[in-house]
Amino acid sequence: MMGLTFWFRRFSENNAVAGLARLDAIQLQQMLRTGQISSLELVDALLEQYAAWEPRVGAFLNFRADQARDQARELDRRRSAGADLGLLAGLPVSVKDILCTVDYPTTCGSRMLRDYHSPFDATVVARIRDAGGIVFGKTNLDEFAMGSSTENSALAVTRNPWNTEHVPGGSSGGGAASVSAGICPLAIGTDTGGSIRQPAAFCGISGLKPTYGRVSRYGLVAFASSLDQAGPMARSVPELALLLEAIAGHDPRDATSAPNEVPSYSHTIAEPLRGLRIGIVPDHFDAGLDAEVDAAVREALGAFRARGATVREIELPASRQAIATYYVIAPCEASSNLARYDGVHFGHRSTERDRTDESPLARLYCRSRAEGLGAEVKRRIMLGTYALSSGYYEAYYLQAMRVRRLIRDELLAAFQSVDVIVGPTTPAPAYRLGEKANDPLSMYLEDLYTVSANLAGIPALSVPCGLSRSGLPIGLQIQAAPFAEELLLRAGAMYQQVTDWHQRRPAA
Ligand code: GLN
Repeated sequence: MMGLTFWFRRFSENNAVAGLARLDAIQLQQMLRTGQISSLELVDALLEQYAAWEPRVGAFLNFRADQARDQARELDRRRSAGADLGLLAGLPVSVKDILCTVDYPTTCGSRMLRDYHSPFDATVVARIRDAGGIVFGKTNLDEFAMGSSTENSALAVTRNPWNTEHVPGGSSGGGAASVSAGICPLAIGTDTGGSIRQPAAFCGISGLKPTYGRVSRYGLVAFASSLDQAGPMARSVPELALLLEAIAGHDPRDATSAPNEVPSYSHTIAEPLRGLRIGIVPDHFDAGLDAEVDAAVREALGAFRARGATVREIELPASRQAIATYYVIAPCEASSNLARYDGVHFGHRSTERDRTDESPLARLYCRSRAEGLGAEVKRRIMLGTYALSSGYYEAYYLQAMRVRRLIRDELLAAFQSVDVIVGPTTPAPAYRLGEKANDPLSMYLEDLYTVSANLAGIPALSVPCGLSRSGLPIGLQIQAAPFAEELLLRAGAMYQQVTDWHQRRPAA
């Protein structure tokens, strides 16, 4: 810490470097390229930001300043030797602690994996490094990404930078807080039912869940394999395009990864978008929607109309079952995926020895799981095991899979007549810490607008579109057809050209 303090002091005296934390990844990239700043100067400026914010928000589970500085130094050395450093050259990216990294533990926010060190990097992480990005710490999350507030983390509490009495959202709450607080320009989150978009909305930043298969899941610790997808978080949409371009693409190590070419999102984002056809779903504006969120979304639609977009209503009746469907399928897959954490194959092993008539092995499994897993994870494993058990499988899992198909079909049909579907990301702005912690159902209902995109495998974006009277951010969700990320990003960028919500920052 002594060393850090020295650097903080040195750089607070250096005006050229002060304020770097306020610039976006595109501006920083330009300054790095032209030699106006070095990667090390950038990292040091962000370490200052870390020192100011991290004690208040708790975005990170593990953070190694020295490691980030070493990586920056190495990048500076290669740059001065004339090397082409790649798309993210010198840019710090925080990584949700559910993606495997060789140089940090990968805990998934669980006591079960508190000491787990992966022997390999997730493909997403490897691509960030290959593109010259700097892994800037591992961020907090709900245990195994199950939750919407980051309160289910067994290891740390993360707070919303806009108001530290409130949750940052979840499960990628640490990543959203890290960008919102200006500790790093870019973050990687994961989204199984809204976990990139909802914390992005709560923390006033942008976040994209890509099409299922667009980004490799290799090394992303599985929660619900048919829904999980990693994606970019940043303040603005052009920054998302940059990070998506770096991480997307086919990976032979992930059988579900798509072979489709990766467009140059960071270039096509600048192309003008004319005559955008927007669909809105009347259900999204029902009584459950907070009045301030409603007003902000309607104002955003006005901004689109002013840029030549047309808006029409579409009905998505099957999507009314989306929450029920998701909360059968996701726990079913979780119960299967989490079977490996038994203290023998993986994870915390109980050391408690007691004499009972039970088999010592069964006892070891029970105790290891009882000690290693939190209440929400246990709840999901039980729900999933129940829904998959003989006699209930047809009634729950199979039925949910049928409804999932209907939800996908009706969304794909809708994209025949509209380019994007626009609505609120969440029913209300960020709630207070503890407010819903003991009420799983009301927590699940938070995911009302986000889970359909995961069930259908389509891409979906959240961008900031307002602030409530109490000063909390509001998010606008934009969804598009499979692999229409280019269009989605251009629509988001168009909105950000005429609004400045994404430039607002929490008070220091
Ligand atoms: N909030 C949802 C859940 O608890 C979504 C989580 C996620 O996207 N990882 O399952």
